[in-house]
Amino acid sequence: MLGISPTDAATKIIATIGPACQTVDKLVALIRLGVDIFRINSAHGDRSQHESALENIREAARLTETHVGILLDLSGPKIRLGQLLVDPFYCEYAAEVVFIRGDAAEAPNQLTSTYKRLVDELKAGDRVMLADGTVSLVVNRVADDGVHCQVTGAGEIRSRQGINLPGVKLSVSAMRPADVDNAIWGAQNGLDFISLSFVRSAEDVHSLRNLLTSYESNALVVAKIEKPEALDQLEAIVDSADAVMVARGDLGVEIDVAEIPVAQKRIIRVCREKLKPVIVATQMLDSMHHNRRPTRAEASDVANAILDGADACMLSGETAIGDFPEEAVATMNRIMVHTEQKLLIEDVHHPGQYHRVHPITSAVTEAATSIAEAIHAKLIVIATHSGGTAWVKSKSRSRIPTIGASDNLATLRRMSLFWGIKPLFLPGFDDSERLLDQVIRWGAGRGFLATGDKLVLVTGSGVMQKAHNLLIVHTVEPT
Ligand code: PEP
Repeated sequence: MLGISPTDAATKIIATIGPACQTVDKLVALIRLGVDIFRINSAHGDRSQHESALENIREAARLTETHVGILLDLSGPKIRLGQLLVDPFYCEYAAEVVFIRGDAAEAPNQLTSTYKRLVDELKAGDRVMLADGTVSLVVNRVADDGVHCQVTGAGEIRSRQGINLPGVKLSVSAMRPADVDNAIWGAQNGLDFISLSFVRSAEDVHSLRNLLTSYESNALVVAKIEKPEALDQLEAIVDSADAVMVARGDLGVEIDVAEIPVAQKRIIRVCREKLKPVIVATQMLDSMHHNRRPTRAEASDVANAILDGADACMLSGETAIGDFPEEAVATMNRIMVHTEQKLLIEDVHHPGQYHRVHPITSAVTEAATSIAEAIHAKLIVIATHSGGTAWVKSKSRSRIPTIGASDNLATLRRMSLFWGIKPLFLPGFDDSERLLDQVIRWGAGRGFLATGDKLVLVTGSGVMQKAHNLLIVHTVEPT
């Protein structure tokens, strides 16, 4: 058991909010089944819908007395089709479709886009994917009246569907005006995580962080990896971001779907090396949109992501628009709990990975994990102001349940992403005796701690400003 209760998974669950789960009652149910973070996808809904989602999530967190995190997902430079003349329109194999300038298609096979320079930047031979990659085109020629493409993969397209251009480098900026506006809204409303879609370089991540900083937001910046350029720049992007998402939906269109598994493993490995939380997203339990049970392949997909070192798994349509959001969360949680038992045997504790953090924090965190394992401690407690030490600890897969204790609500919510860390509000934690006392009362109240149980506490003496330098081993005494 890694959590405080046998049904607590150490791997975090992110659920996308949508019509299938947005009432307070449903959100409360999903939190009780294991959701740690809710994602508001800015690609769907308007500001008033995002505001009511935020209000409902906060109310559900209050009712469940949890520190659920909120992630705002920015669409980034996603290019979309404009209005089709005939909607939906079936693209016949080998037929011609033409990207034209402006917004007004005058024939069913004329396409417009939200990126005005598209017609200037496409070249003969470029590939264009529509409808999540189900329809493919190749550019035949560029002429005065537009870009003439041939349909190489037939299918139906609809107005405003995404356009993917695998391997085509566009000069589009990292954030559209709508992203800037949404990011400012997220900053002003204290959202915990803000993710940027279609990141191509570390500069894209810096531009979002600079914007957030200028609005005094400390939200963690999540880089979504879904472009081949991002794979080329992976190390620099991971360095620049606070966390990373393997966004397999668009990545699976931008690169050959056959390359996805190896790309996913590489992204997770780089994040492990650089101590950054990594989220695996999209189609994890896709068949649960309409079924109460996942396929065997989906169960294996979740398990393999955990075995590779993912910190969180994300549900998209399964919770946003699916028929069985509660079953999807419960199923994901169950797969996680089972898989984590296996993880313990093969994959615990990676000493030597901490070299990127303050040497005292790294030494104390590593020692706390080793000591806790050696003495079969019941609990590790990390007292943290910013969440930094809990973040470092979360990258070591220890078998001991771990609490991230803080008196800062924003820190508690950001710990919702950290693998194996249970956020716990404890006031006045600069006093280690008082802190231990509160933890013991909290654990005993849940039947988790009893006389004789051992705890390892990591905290600061107050002398060192930048690092956690104090480690206390405590045995619960009879009351
Ligand atoms: C994805 O493409 O996998 C993804 C998570 O992004 P979105 O849901 O915004 O398409």
